Amino acid sequence: MLKIIHRILLTFVMLASAGFFSAGVTVAYKNSKTEKTIKTETISEGVYFNAADLESVFKSIIKEEKNDNRIYLSLLGEQFIFLVNSAYYSFKNVQYNMHYPLIRKEMSYLLPSQFLLERLPAHFPGDIQIQKGKLTLSEPKDYSIRTIVIDPGHGGKDPGAVGRKYKTQEKDVNLAVTLKLKSMLEKELGINVLLTRADDRFVSLYERTKYANDRAADLFVSIHANSSVSTASKGIEVYYLSTATTTESRAVEALENSVVELYEGGKTATKKYDDLAIILSDILQAEHLEASNNLASHVQLNLVAGTKAYDRGVKQANFYVLRGAFMPAILCELGFLSNPDEEVLLKNPEYQERMARTLFEGIKRFKFRYDRIRSI
Ligand SMILES: [Zn+2]
Repeated sequence: MLKIIHRILLTFVMLASAGFFSAGVTVAYKNSKTEKTIKTETISEGVYFNAADLESVFKSIIKEEKNDNRIYLSLLGEQFIFLVNSAYYSFKNVQYNMHYPLIRKEMSYLLPSQFLLERLPAHFPGDIQIQKGKLTLSEPKDYSIRTIVIDPGHGGKDPGAVGRKYKTQEKDVNLAVTLKLKSMLEKELGINVLLTRADDRFVSLYERTKYANDRAADLFVSIHANSSVSTASKGIEVYYLSTATTTESRAVEALENSVVELYEGGKTATKKYDDLAIILSDILQAEHLEASNNLASHVQLNLVAGTKAYDRGVKQANFYVLRGAFMPAILCELGFLSNPDEEVLLKNPEYQERMARTLFEGIKRFKFRYDRIRSI
């Protein structure tokens, strides 16, 4: 009898050491019976898990930058930076020690279980706790981008910039590109697209962002064409909101904000926007600065790559139309109507189609990244 028990025990030990009974960390959700397991394995005394397994729990993304050998982990909207074979990582510019190094194994990155069980609850006390040996998370939330407001600038009595050579009106270019972009986003990504105007009519700047806020849109994209006193000015630039601006940005800002003085009742209206800004927007839009900056970068990169236009870069300016938006918001200047060569392009339906396509690509890439980072 003893012999049999001994044999059973021996088999058990052999199976266990062969990893037959896989160990792991249980992940539970508050107010939900759903549980997941992140598998662990022992490597030279350290207990490790595959960093890619964080994805199914946190929708995190891990990638290595080949040029600096750093490994970037995006999780719950924050970034961790690791080095291969180093026990140290950086989080919000502070160095932390995991006691065991990150190991690269074939195509995966293995992290010590301390990172999961000790460091993550310490970094995200509101979202991640350790209870009875289980990692406990808040309920999964759906932050994915489903509704986008596109705002074709100007309209009706306000033509926006006017081309020098062919008198092309900015409001028409903005609307044409917007309608094409709307159809791509709806058909190819199934996104609900709302427009601040779908025809040639005047809409105040206040109404534009109020429209987006009232419908709880996830993104606000304002479409414009530029103008300058110099016929040589050219290229594409994408703005996101900031009060810290350069002189050049202030010129564009003044141009786009002038609609308030020109068409919305002069100085009194400007005062109204300034008050509004103080009350509503500065704090609320500040929450979205990073996402707005990110969206602006994706859109700028794709616009320039797809149109081969001159790259004026991502800029910050204080636009009324962005200030009131309680969501990531950008303003795209697609080219200069004051530049005769660019005017020819801007009024060309094929070029408008290309601009819409590249705007679509930029938004699509931002959406894929943002949906994953924002979801718990
Ligand atoms: Zn404009």
